Amino acid sequence: MRILPQALKNIFKKPFTHRYPYKPMILTPGARGDFTWTREKCIFCQICERVCPAEAIKINKEKKIYEMDNGKCVFCGTCEENCPTKAIHFKEQLAPVDTKRKVRKFQ
Ligand code: SF4
Ligand code: SF4
Repeated sequence: MRILPQALKNIFKKPFTHRYPYKPMILTPGARGDFTWTREKCIFCQICERVCPAEAIKINKEKKIYEMDNGKCVFCGTCEENCPTKAIHFKEQLAPVDTKRKVRKFQ
């Protein structure tokens, strides 16, 4: 019954799990969380769309519509690394929680 003392000790310890999304989740520096795209910086070169391994980015150059599918994204950061104008950035906080798969449309 060596497990019993450990179980009793654990009752008084703080949990190892996070209460996200009820409490903000602090990510380690450099972690890729919520995807952001800045319209003013984007030149619609479509490099991010071409380099994305998950085909998560769709750009309509003529209509200046930028779409990113959170459900497809694998958070590899390739789009951010290759963007010549630094229009893409991943925040060090998690993306908002949603129960439905959504394509985020930016205009
Ligand atoms: S690589 Fe950057 S500048 Fe080019 S389309 Fe993507 S976000 Fe815009
Ligand atoms: S992080 Fe990777 S998978 Fe997600 S949109 Fe950028 S290139 Fe595509």
